Amino acid sequence: MRCGVDIGGTNTMIGLVDKNGNVVDYDCLKTGKYEVAFDLVVTIAYSILRMAKVNQTTIDSIGVGCPNINPENGVVEKAANLKFKGPVSLLNEFRRYFPQTPLFFENDARAAALGEAIYGSAKGIRDFIEITLGTGLGCGIVINGKIVDGNRGMAGEVCHSILVPNGRECGCGRKGCLEQYVSANGIIKTYLELCQRNDIVPLTQEYRQIANLALNGDPIALETYQETGKILGLALANLACFSSPSHIFLFGGVAQIGDILMTPTRKAFEENLLFCYKDNIKLEFSGLLAASKNAGILGAAALCTRQ
Ligand SMILES: [Zn+2]
Repeated sequence: MRCGVDIGGTNTMIGLVDKNGNVVDYDCLKTGKYEVAFDLVVTIAYSILRMAKVNQTTIDSIGVGCPNINPENGVVEKAANLKFKGPVSLLNEFRRYFPQTPLFFENDARAAALGEAIYGSAKGIRDFIEITLGTGLGCGIVINGKIVDGNRGMAGEVCHSILVPNGRECGCGRKGCLEQYVSANGIIKTYLELCQRNDIVPLTQEYRQIANLALNGDPIALETYQETGKILGLALANLACFSSPSHIFLFGGVAQIGDILMTPTRKAFEENLLFCYKDNIKLEFSGLLAASKNAGILGAAALCTRQ
């Protein structure tokens, strides 16, 4: 069976995937508990071996999605949302426990795009972009049926394109990056800013609570998503010029809010889109959004098809 490991800023999901794309078993770890990669990987390895034993199966290959990883050598470095700053070779760490098993590594957002192509809504689609809206923001770009890695695997760092000159400070050292506005952390900042501007005491500083407030019709929380959609839609319209996709998919925990985010995003996207792309790009939610926590596992497992 294939194994998918999705190392995210908040959770690490580990799962076994059968040949029909079903997640037959999975496990979840809190990524932030692990200060060094060695401790995280030993726990992941234990989990994989335990699941293989319980399900009486063997592991044919392992795909690992992780922020800021070089797909060629499995080295992770300077990932903003991970405690270990590296450089650390996850390839070497995994090899200790899986000396013979084929291992595949990829940036988590690109793994999500590959998951969309193999298991989700992008089957047979040659040109698409997948935006993952989570703790941070990720992007996978597929052109002519191929995922774009770029030099050192650094292609598609759209999260650090500057959308607001001299805007919010970003972890990358610059100001006004897209991620500071449309990720879960960015949405928290927008909510707190709007509360301050309206002289209202914030009801929460947690992303999930803000999402719940919006779903229950709280006007400041709703305005927060309006503002988020405006910036996201503009960013996607700019991005369209880069690779002329036929589809853009929104994925990740933040996308689960649904139309509250999609409606303002689509409006800003259409308003800012170059004339030649109008009516030619479908902006949709990922087909794996309903798979929720298993979607990252499927994306990572899809890496095993890259041989
Ligand atoms: Zn940045």
